[in-house]
Amino acid sequence: MNDALSISCPHCGEIFSLAFDVSEGSAEFTIDCEVCCRPMTVAVQVADGEVTGLDIVEE
Ligand SMILES: [Zn+2]
Repeated sequence: MNDALSISCPHCGEIFSLAFDVSEGSAEFTIDCEVCCRPMTVAVQVADGEVTGLDIVEE
């Protein structure tokens, strides 16, 4: 099941959505901002198939 995360870039402040499969459970990954292309680490907490927390840290 895919959920759309709303990611706020710590570098440029732009918000973009990211498809995330909540059935995978909690995850942490590094992505590049769709707007400024700078990297960030996204940590997603999942409980009972729902996103309960989202942390975004600039690299
Ligand atoms: Zn950005």
